[in-house]
Amino acid sequence: MRAPLKPLDDALAELLAQALPLAGHDIADSFDADGRVLLDDAVSPLQVPPQDNSAMDGYAVRSAECLDGDAVLPVSQRIPAGSTGQPLAEGTVARIFTGAPVPAGADAVVMQEDCEVLDDGRVRVKARPEAGQWIRRSGEDIRRGATVIAAGTRLSPAELGLAASIGLASLRVARRPRVALFSTGDELVMPGTVAPEHMPPGSIYNSNRFFLRALLQRMGCEVTDLGIVPDRREATEDALRQAALAHDLILTSGGVSVGEEDHVKPAVQALGQLDLWQISVKPGKPFAYGRVARPGEGFAHFIGLPGNPVSSFVTFLLLVRPFVLRLQGVQQVLPRYVEVRADFHWPRGDKRREFLRVRYNGQGGLELFRNQSSGVLTSAAWGDGVVDNPPGQAIAPGDKVRFIAFSELLS
Ligand code: AMP
Ligand code: MG
Repeated sequence: MRAPLKPLDDALAELLAQALPLAGHDIADSFDADGRVLLDDAVSPLQVPPQDNSAMDGYAVRSAECLDGDAVLPVSQRIPAGSTGQPLAEGTVARIFTGAPVPAGADAVVMQEDCEVLDDGRVRVKARPEAGQWIRRSGEDIRRGATVIAAGTRLSPAELGLAASIGLASLRVARRPRVALFSTGDELVMPGTVAPEHMPPGSIYNSNRFFLRALLQRMGCEVTDLGIVPDRREATEDALRQAALAHDLILTSGGVSVGEEDHVKPAVQALGQLDLWQISVKPGKPFAYGRVARPGEGFAHFIGLPGNPVSSFVTFLLLVRPFVLRLQGVQQVLPRYVEVRADFHWPRGDKRREFLRVRYNGQGGLELFRNQSSGVLTSAAWGDGVVDNPPGQAIAPGDKVRFIAFSELLS
């Protein structure tokens, strides 16, 4: 009897247990750190903003002197951004600009639209300012000593700005995982090498290589592309042996199924070990994880993805993405999902947990791509994401389903 397929969550847990953080680190210029993973908590040495400052162009006042909504007061000083003023003399206002420090004694800013400059230079304050209005308080964004970005965070543009706002020009980040990528399949032809009208019968263009490389790069990896490996045991072993030398992970597509032309699994077993094979997920059943030993010591992680393009794409997002993020020390590696209304029928759920390609229909619901075959890559380009459908679950219009957006999975 065949062993039952491993549930996806168990496979993911086993995979993450193997994904120990890579040794080493880089010091990245903050300008170049988008997408990198921060290794230390970023702790603020200062208050942001550093002092109380004006949120408007206008006049800094003592609110108690403007209670009647018609006060006329002389302007005792001018405080542009980048300078500091003097304490505000009683019975006067200060001309002030956005971002300039509020002078001692002033407790409110009145925007210039609510003021009128008289011919003699004095200012009529035509409003009744509340104490504190239009003042941005020191530390209201960040307090001294606060952790503004936690270790293990994947940096995004806002965080680069945040790091800069506490004075960090460079950051200690995880080393990029070095990944060797190759495709197997004697039918594969690289686009650009043979024109469509000259494609030999039985051949297809290698599409997996293009999206896998881009996906790896988006996840922060440095990719070595080892091209197409022929469907022969020896060639497969040679490629694996070679790839193990200088890489943290070897990622392959195709050849990991059960046919005689599938050489990846026995080759990995010969050169190391295979820990995981075949997962109860659709698309994507023929997924493999193991290690390839390096001569001397150590090993490279090995992940074998299915050859069918959609299976390859989906299993990358579900399993490889969390794995390579965890190698970089990312803690939060699981995609978030939302409950969304299905506006489609899926009369019979599969035995395996299924990831259906869907997209928003503009009425707050999801529509299903017409062809869910694992070979139809159009579904992945057309879709906004996938519905994570439990085994055996039928879907009727109006049902709430678990939706994971590609925006969540591709970033
Ligand atoms: P395999 O897993 O090697 O049995 O391949 C399963 C299916 O995926 C076959 O139809 C292959 O032709 C196709 N396939 C495998 N590798 C690729 C690739 N790199 N690009 C496009 N299709 C592929
Ligand atoms: Mg094949």
